[in-house]
Amino acid sequence: MPYPVEGLGHKIPREKTILIVDDVDTNVSTLIELLGDNYDMLATLSAQGALEILEEEQVDLILLDILMPDMNGLDLCRQIKSRESTKDIPIIFITVKTDEDSIEDAYAAGGVDYITKPFKSREVLSRIKKELDLQEMMRELAFLASTDPLTNLHNRRHFAQIAQQVLAIAKRQKETPSLIMMDIDHFKQINDTYGHKAGDDVIVHLAKTVMKHLRESDFACRFGGEEFVALLPNTSLSDARLAAEKLRKAVEASMVVLEDGSVVQYTVSLGVSAVNVMTETTIEIALKRADDALYEAKESGRNLVR
Ligand code: GH3
Ligand code: MG
Ligand code: MG
Repeated sequence: MPYPVEGLGHKIPREKTILIVDDVDTNVSTLIELLGDNYDMLATLSAQGALEILEEEQVDLILLDILMPDMNGLDLCRQIKSRESTKDIPIIFITVKTDEDSIEDAYAAGGVDYITKPFKSREVLSRIKKELDLQEMMRELAFLASTDPLTNLHNRRHFAQIAQQVLAIAKRQKETPSLIMMDIDHFKQINDTYGHKAGDDVIVHLAKTVMKHLRESDFACRFGGEEFVALLPNTSLSDARLAAEKLRKAVEASMVVLEDGSVVQYTVSLGVSAVNVMTETTIEIALKRADDALYEAKESGRNLVR
């Protein structure tokens, strides 16, 4: 996967996956028996094995023993918490150590909960469910904070964060990302003629058109009212112009059917720019160029790519 951030690709809901890390195999089999009906289970007898699994698999929660021969569970927890790709996975310690110092150490290392052996089955189930529910809630909150509610596209604030990551990768790999800025033509007239709800429908239609015609690795954002920006990693200016032209044509050819059955047609103007990652450390300058190009498209008659 070339980009660590998610593009336009859709998420498929899946079963939660729990990773058990314990050097005693009877402990592992007891936990699998307890949890296997409700969750996808992964297990390993060593800390090293855990790190390997985490490289490959998407894990939602880790049950971690503290005393293991190859690496202390606390050290493993600290390692997992220090890695960007795994730092948000909740870790519950399951251990025979019951002294207060050990419990304190476990939380200090980044654990979210601490269960002592021998454990009570239903208690383990409840605690795991609580952590997974909490994690789901955090994900939903993160989604709401980063998404435009009308179109489900990235919002402007989140787009700026994504752009920073894409630029950093592009610089390392000596690639050129490009930007397409687009704005609906005479949108005020659509609102005035058909009403604000119809205007919203047109905005949603444009968002869907952008999603459909760009690549999964591209990022699209609702920049403002009826203005969108797309960031195309590893795409030259001329290829971005072709993508913009494809979008322009798709919009021009489409019809939005309103609730009352009436049909609205609309067009967009688009401005394209390439990011020079060697000299530009943020997306701002390239955004300004795309905005200038968009202005030119408007001035030259609209329904154009510049
Ligand atoms: P141009 O071709 O020059 O872009 O003209 P325009 O009419 O599209 O541009 P203008 O900036 O004059 O008008 C944009 C309108 O978009 C004004 C604003 O009320 C409307 N608008 C902004 N956000 C929303 C929204 O979320 N929903 C709806 N329905 N209208 C919106
Ligand atoms: Mg407009
Ligand atoms: Mg506008």
